[in-house]
Amino acid sequence: MEKRYKGCLFGLAVGDALGAPVEFLTLPQIKRKYGGGGIKDFDSWGGFPAGTYTDDTQMSLATAAGCIGAWKRGMEKGIWHPPSFVNLKYLEWLETQSDPRQVRAPGNTCLSALRSGKMGTVDEPVNNSKGCGGVMRTAPAGLAFPPGQAFEQGAAFAAITHGHPSGYLPAGVLAELIAHLVRGIDLEKAAGLSLIPLRGAKGYQETMDCLEKAKELAQSSLAAPQAIEKIGEGWVGEEALGISLYCSLKFRNDWAGGVLASVNHSGDSDSTGSITGAILGTLLGLEAIPVTGCRELRTPLT
Ligand SMILES: [Mg+2]
Repeated sequence: MEKRYKGCLFGLAVGDALGAPVEFLTLPQIKRKYGGGGIKDFDSWGGFPAGTYTDDTQMSLATAAGCIGAWKRGMEKGIWHPPSFVNLKYLEWLETQSDPRQVRAPGNTCLSALRSGKMGTVDEPVNNSKGCGGVMRTAPAGLAFPPGQAFEQGAAFAAITHGHPSGYLPAGVLAELIAHLVRGIDLEKAAGLSLIPLRGAKGYQETMDCLEKAKELAQSSLAAPQAIEKIGEGWVGEEALGISLYCSLKFRNDWAGGVLASVNHSGDSDSTGSITGAILGTLLGLEAIPVTGCRELRTPLT
C-alpha cells in the first residue's frame, strides 16, 4: 500500500512535468518539435528547467496537506470538516503565486475563485466553471479517505473553486477510483465501482457519458491519438478524467506508455498526464515509474 501511495504522488508529479512542455501545443505541433512519436522525456518549458512540475502538482500537494491537517485536527479536537482544511492550503498556495518562481501556468478559475474570498461548495457553487482545475488536483483525496467518503470529499475539494457539476463530479470519481486502487482492486473493477456514487448526483450525466465512452474506446482497436480526439481535449473536467481513464485502461501494465499517450494530444497535456500518472502510479506502484526524479523530487521517495 505504501508503494501505491508513493506511486500516486510521484506519478502525478512526473506525469505533470512530462506534459508541461506541450500543454499549449497541438498534436501536429508536438510531432514537428519532438518527432513522430511525440514527446518522450522531460523538457524545459516557460523558462523552467526540464522536469519542473506545474500548478497541477502544486495544488495536488496542497490537497494532500489539507487532508493531513483535517485528520490531525479531527483526531485531536474532534473538528471534522476536511474541505475547510484543504481550502486553507489552497489559499496558502494562492499566496505563493506572488513569487514568479512558483507561477507555473495556474488556471484562471482557481485564481479568481480563491481570490473571491468565498469558499465554493456543491450546494453553494462559487461559479459555473467546469474546467479541469478541480479534478487535476484531487487524486490525493483517494489516499486520505476510504471508498464512499473519497467521492464526497474529492467533489467537495473541487467545488471550492469549480461550481459546475462537470467541474467537481469528475474529482469525486477520481478520488473514489484512487481509493479503490490503493486497496489493491484491479483497474477495470475499480473504474466500475467509482461510477456508483456518481450515478444520481445532480448533473452527473455529462461526466457519466464521457467516462462510459472512454471505457468503450479502451476496448476498441482504435489507436490512442484518434481515441483521445474522440473524447476531447481535456480542458474541462469530464474530458480530462475521460482521457486519463482511457489511457490508464489502454496501458494498464505500462505506466510510461499510458502517461506518454496521455500527454501527446492537442489539449491540456499536463493535467491529463498528471491524472493518468496518478491512476497508473497507484495501480502499479512507485517502481513502475521509470524515472529517478523530476527536478523538485530529487529526494528519492523509496
Ligand atoms: Mg498545469
